[in-house]
Amino acid sequence: MHRYETNPAIEKYDTEGKSYIKEENQIGIYVHIPFCHSKCSYCDFVSFPRATEATVNRYMNALFSEIQYWKENSPHAAVNSIFIGGGTPSSISPEWIEKLMRHLSESFSIAEDAEISMEANPGTLTPDSIESYKRAGINRISLGLQSTQNEMLQTIGRMHSYETFLGSYQWLRAAGIDNINIDLIFGLPGQDLADWKKTLNKVMDLSPEHISAYALKVEEGTPMADWVTRGLVHLPDEDTEREMYHFAIKHLAGAGYAQYELSNFSRPGYLCRHNLIYWENKPYLGIGLAAHSKRFGIRFANTEDINEYCMQIEQGKDAVVEREPIDTDEDLFETIMLGLRLNRGLNIKQIDRQYGIVFLERYSDILKKLERESLIVKTADGIALTDLGRDLSNRVFLSFMND
Ligand code: SF4
Repeated sequence: MHRYETNPAIEKYDTEGKSYIKEENQIGIYVHIPFCHSKCSYCDFVSFPRATEATVNRYMNALFSEIQYWKENSPHAAVNSIFIGGGTPSSISPEWIEKLMRHLSESFSIAEDAEISMEANPGTLTPDSIESYKRAGINRISLGLQSTQNEMLQTIGRMHSYETFLGSYQWLRAAGIDNINIDLIFGLPGQDLADWKKTLNKVMDLSPEHISAYALKVEEGTPMADWVTRGLVHLPDEDTEREMYHFAIKHLAGAGYAQYELSNFSRPGYLCRHNLIYWENKPYLGIGLAAHSKRFGIRFANTEDINEYCMQIEQGKDAVVEREPIDTDEDLFETIMLGLRLNRGLNIKQIDRQYGIVFLERYSDILKKLERESLIVKTADGIALTDLGRDLSNRVFLSFMND
């Protein structure tokens, strides 16, 4: 492995979540593995159930060629985080993940202390596969649990039970994985506050380092959307869903999990560095099917068609189908919108420096209005959402958009 020695002059990442990624030549890398055992009823991600070995083989080799392509065709950058997501990266043979990490290490300068996360689903892990991920350099696992109630897991089409999850979690711990995220969803069909409390309590008892809790979003075209329209399942009403969210914030805080983003909670020092890159509107390179990138003021995205992806890459080309320069106003809006998702909010001096504006003057009317409505609050560095602002975050974001 050739690895990048962290430059001591670069500000270290701290427990407050302040990023050390200050240079344009430092990036995070996202790699998409679009395969799953089965399709969950709420899922609209680019992922395919039951792929044949030949498909996986062709795709993974294309992925390795794309890594080589970016090695040869993009300016050198130090990599501070890698996120292998999907899909279910743990649904393919762990040897592919070892090979993937080898290709990445040979092509990019990965920081010695880089956060290297991989998504995994309970039921796809074994003690052997976990050893293999460790050998590959994975140091953070994000486990999709969603709920601890088996009936609910069945309704949403998850392939695992709570008991299977527990087994996977214990194997990860026994193998020494000391940075685990557990993904949860609230607002599920038939779920009430008591169910959600049970899920949270059971998860907190396990003491993972990080918990993500997302409200169910019913995406058009999914079986879930169809069931909701036909009245076959009933979702909790908006008030109950908000109650679930507030309960999570309060309850998790009491157990030492600080909320640092609208849907993310962590023990001190375990904020997800990779996702912070997105919320801080920093550069990243996405590799694989449907992967999005942002580098040097350009946003680009790969095709979502797996055949087209493989064909393009096999011909020595990239698989980019969308490419657009981000103008300064758009970039500023994104920095505001994404930054406000973080509990620490916006650092106004930094924004003024970066965009050559006086934030407080440019947005003075909007800021006054949002403050009057108790949606934002002043902080030492700038502004942040209030609790009410977090509930009505879209309204806050739109005010800046319409400026
Ligand atoms: S495991 Fe994840 S990516 Fe795969 S179908 Fe379910 S929600 Fe979608």
